[in-house]
Amino acid sequence: MNLIEANHIEKSFGELQVLRDISMHVAQGEVVAIIGPSGSGKSTFLRCLTQLETADRGEITICGKQMMRTENGNAVFADPKTLHEITLCAGLVFQNFNLFPHRSVLQNVTDAPIRVLGISKAEAEKTARSLLEKMNLSDRADYYPCQLSGGQQQRVAIARALALNPRVLFFDEPTSALDPELTGEILRVIRQLAEEHMTMVVVTHEMAFARDVADRVIFMDGGVIVEQGRPEEIFGDAQNERTRAFLSSFA
Ligand code: ADP
Ligand code: MG
Repeated sequence: MNLIEANHIEKSFGELQVLRDISMHVAQGEVVAIIGPSGSGKSTFLRCLTQLETADRGEITICGKQMMRTENGNAVFADPKTLHEITLCAGLVFQNFNLFPHRSVLQNVTDAPIRVLGISKAEAEKTARSLLEKMNLSDRADYYPCQLSGGQQQRVAIARALALNPRVLFFDEPTSALDPELTGEILRVIRQLAEEHMTMVVVTHEMAFARDVADRVIFMDGGVIVEQGRPEEIFGDAQNERTRAFLSSFA
């Protein structure tokens, strides 16, 4: 079963066409890495899939629920209830953590379950504490984001995303705001989620990580998917010249 089906996605900002007919399907349990140069449309694509941006055309189905389709050349979106259900099914972890600065770690993790799911504070805190333990942050529950390292803040952001019990997680360059020594702790968490068969789409510049953890690697450039395949195919035997040129810049 596919948890993500995106077909023929197009998106422009004014005159600038950022996504040009992108199609991507992700099966349940699959880990997909998206790589590609800056400005190639990776973030815009994730933002269209997570309702932070509206695609101009195409068809998106997440967790079996159709989020948008195209009729007579125009995007038509699902009703608010369906869009809300999709929000609960698919979480997003940002490059810059995006925690609430004036709320404690615990409050950051319990906010959405209480406010969005309507579960009790006690229940939300129980779940939050077990997620913080999993993120190795049990002793930081009462801290504020500014009192944490970037790596710790990102682990809080991951706990916050997991608190809604999503079936899919999107990560947009989750380590690129971190010092190199803090990158490893985030990659270990994502690797652990992969071992637990969480379905994930990870935009990353960490090529060794993509090679190790992803089931499939997608190379985007200029608003299109140039090439995709198993990590060994992309990293060992890329067919497209642009893919090879991009990868050689990491050598
Ligand atoms: P990537 O994540 O691959 O670096 P982005 O999706 O962030 O690429 O950006 C793709 C292109 O779209 C870039 O040229 C960027 O400047 C442009 N862009 C992104 N968001 C906006 C926006 N909100 N308004 C105008 N242009 C944007
Ligand atoms: Mg980006």
